Amino acid sequence: MQSEHEGPHHFDVIIVGAGLSGVGAASHLARECPDKTFAIVESRSTVGGTWDLFRYPGVRSDSDMYTLGYDFKPWAGEKAIASGAEIRDYIRDTIAEEDLSAHLRLNTRIISAEFSSATALWTLTAVRTTDGEYSDADPDRGVVTFTCSFLSICSGYYRYDEGFTPLIDGLADFGGPVVHAQQWPANLDCFDRRIIVIGSGATAVTLVPALADRALHVTMLQRSPSYVATRSSVDPLAARMGRLLPARAVNTLIRTRNILSAILTFEVSRRRPALLKRWLRKAAVAELPPGFDVDTHFGPAYDPWDQRLCLTTDGELFDAISRGDVDVVTAEIRRITPTGIELTSGESLEADIIVLATGLNLLAIGGISLRVDGREIVLGDTTAYRGMMLSGVPNLSLTLGYTNAAWTLRADLISRYVIRLLKHLDANGFATVTPAGPRHAGKGGQVPLIDLQSGYVRRGIASLPRQAGRSRWRLQQNYLEDSRLLTRRSVTDGVRFGHARG
Ligand SMILES: Cc1cc2nc3c(=O)[nH]c(=O)nc-3n(C[C@H](O)[C@H](O)[C@H](O)COP(=O)(O)OP(=O)(O)OC[C@H]3O[C@@H](n4cnc5c(N)ncnc54)[C@H](O)[C@@H]3O)c2cc1C
Repeated sequence: MQSEHEGPHHFDVIIVGAGLSGVGAASHLARECPDKTFAIVESRSTVGGTWDLFRYPGVRSDSDMYTLGYDFKPWAGEKAIASGAEIRDYIRDTIAEEDLSAHLRLNTRIISAEFSSATALWTLTAVRTTDGEYSDADPDRGVVTFTCSFLSICSGYYRYDEGFTPLIDGLADFGGPVVHAQQWPANLDCFDRRIIVIGSGATAVTLVPALADRALHVTMLQRSPSYVATRSSVDPLAARMGRLLPARAVNTLIRTRNILSAILTFEVSRRRPALLKRWLRKAAVAELPPGFDVDTHFGPAYDPWDQRLCLTTDGELFDAISRGDVDVVTAEIRRITPTGIELTSGESLEADIIVLATGLNLLAIGGISLRVDGREIVLGDTTAYRGMMLSGVPNLSLTLGYTNAAWTLRADLISRYVIRLLKHLDANGFATVTPAGPRHAGKGGQVPLIDLQSGYVRRGIASLPRQAGRSRWRLQQNYLEDSRLLTRRSVTDGVRFGHARG
């Protein structure tokens, strides 16, 4: 293909990513600032982000849709816990209802963004992609340049091209298919097969019972256990209220209750971890067959919410174990053999298919390299202002959701905050807004922006912005506190406003 260089195309705001966050940010912007021009630039050929990428059997949310859905679009589904396809449809419906299609620029991956204080503009360089693949800029492919006044990064937090695969001796020698949950082949035949799923996180907990429905037998092989709690896929109160009240009222009430109960559970797990541990253990014991070793297989060493809590809808994992369709093995792998897995205990597990549910590779701000006036911005050296802007970086927001509650709760608040900022800039004739340097951030600057002990966070910690002691430099894991800070507090605290210098 002939090399082409298009552009520049100018917009007031560019939103990177057409997942749940990017589509939400665009909807808020279109509603609140109808005069602003904007584009949603997406590297893949389709929208939906996470909820389009992940296709493994049973893929679904852990969060209820009353809180994972947008604050402006009530969830009308029958079940509180939605499948990946239902969430994808919800995002697509939002695009149609909010009339966003014309703003989408698909197959376009932003690789660099440079801010100039002279013009108060970002210049973004993007490559055309065939399907969002991660290869470096290919000169044979089109390069597109955009300029914008404000850059809203809604790129999620992990690499799309590959999930995390640990180094396991002999993996290449296995005689059957080895499949990563992030790249599920559409035609994988699991019927009557013996499947070993390696992993213990949310993906394994979802995938294992779904596979058990069609496989001969499934073994969930984990090096260390996770906490697993049962959650009902249907909210009984919402179902009852739905017969009496309009959908919007039901949504508001259930959403409020779920927000409060998530905060309460998280606070209990932080202040009285032993209490929550006992409760989780008791609930698991009640659902598992007599004699099942709950402490070995579902009793981690860490405290609840040091890593994301895993949920099994309607107890389906525990049911599958009770039926004998699923075994849980907590052990170290010595090596993979052509027919299965040898453990360090000397035991061998036979398999026809091995599934890696071994997690994600963290990728902050979609791998975009940032520069401000020619100076490279090293993310690990920045401190995040209100968990959504970067110290010393003008006119940029990034959207990271909660780790202890539904992602969209925070994404909606960030969108609203950005709109308040944009309105403040316009009303006062400013062109730039920059969070002050990290020396103003207070103590505690060593905490990464995603404060979880999960493997993907530990592996990628150096590439994350930091958070610090003072509240405006912390990512609050509390929706009520965030609502106060992001929707009511002045937008002028701790930031500098300015004009184009040129
Ligand atoms: C399997 C799985 C289950 C989950 N379940 C839950 C849950 O139950 N509850 C919850 O709250 N959270 C959950 N999460 C977290 C989940 O990622 C969020 O819920 C939410 O989908 C994030 O939306 P997002 O738009 O911010 O990011 P994503 O969904 O990751 O979308 C980001 C988009 O940005 C695009 N992009 C990235 N970089 C670039 C670039 N440089 N240029 C152009 N485009 C780019 C990507 O292609 C993608 O389309 C889950 C995550 C996974 C992986």
